[in-house]
Amino acid sequence: MTVDDKLINPSTEPCIFCRIIKGEIPSHKLYEDDYSLAILDINPVNQGHVLVMPKKHYKTITDTPLRLLQHLIEVSYDIVMAVQKTLDPDGFNIIQNNNMQAGQLVPHLHIHLIPRFGGDEKTFGFLWGTKKIEEKEMKEIKEKIIKTMKK
Ligand code: AMP
Ligand code: ZN
Repeated sequence: MTVDDKLINPSTEPCIFCRIIKGEIPSHKLYEDDYSLAILDINPVNQGHVLVMPKKHYKTITDTPLRLLQHLIEVSYDIVMAVQKTLDPDGFNIIQNNNMQAGQLVPHLHIHLIPRFGGDEKTFGFLWGTKKIEEKEMKEIKEKIIKTMKK
């Protein structure tokens, strides 16, 4: 990992994920290190829908250093394993949208880790359906996944 990928100076981008990274907006945080952050998606396709992002602001995959992408995949792997053990989904979609035309709504690179269950809505990308999950349940899911990651 090059030191460039570390968030040494907080981004000045007016970006919602940068604001979450800086702690200006609350989130359900599952994991963080010097380079990355993983949070629960606020409008999840299913419970346990996680977003993994770099701390430094990059918009798309073509802007992002390969070593950092590799790190995000390593973090994603650990989280997928923990979500699998915690929620026992039947499958996963792992999706990363680049640019508005491809359905990217938040212009800060992120990887969606979406647990899928038999019988749930079988759409994805910018066509996916979302669920409203109560704050209490979001907290419970977050804590269960974090506990599993520590095992
Ligand atoms: P994309 O369309 O790939 O850019 O996905 C953006 C995702 O960010 C969507 O699934 C949103 O539900 C999610 N999102 C937007 N704002 C927040 C937030 N404040 N906390 C957590 N997730 C968010
Ligand atoms: Zn950002």
